[in-house]
Amino acid sequence: MKPPLTGGCLCGKVRYEISAPPVDSMNCHCRTCQQWTGTAYLAFMWIPADALSITGEYKEFATLAASGNTVYRGFCAECGTALFGRYSHFAAVRPVAAATLDDPSMFKPQKDIWVADAQPWDMMNPDLPKYAGNPTRPPTL
Ligand SMILES: [Zn+2]
Ligand SMILES: [Zn+2]
Repeated sequence: MKPPLTGGCLCGKVRYEISAPPVDSMNCHCRTCQQWTGTAYLAFMWIPADALSITGEYKEFATLAASGNTVYRGFCAECGTALFGRYSHFAAVRPVAAATLDDPSMFKPQKDIWVADAQPWDMMNPDLPKYAGNPTRPPTL
């Protein structure tokens, strides 16, 4: 995935640009990501926080992670598209929803996480490593 990567929400009011390659890429099957996305899992990339620039009005909704830390989930104030997140306990990286890329086909997930929460109708790539919960702490730079 060669930067810059660009993407945005369904209505086009929120746009972002990523100026560095993702640190990691994965699918999260936790209940909170299921509800946030309205489907089986959140496909996302860890992006260096200072490489993510955002334009347009978005809102954040605070959710409590299993770790006890707060995850601020960012979505378009107009169309509601789930776009990116921000964490209370590590500021170096931010998750960005892969399906919001202008070219989502460039996304290459490396693992499945929180598979213990996955729904019976959730189909996963058997070749990817599976983690019941969080594999490790999120990547640091
Ligand atoms: Zn929108
Ligand atoms: Zn999740």
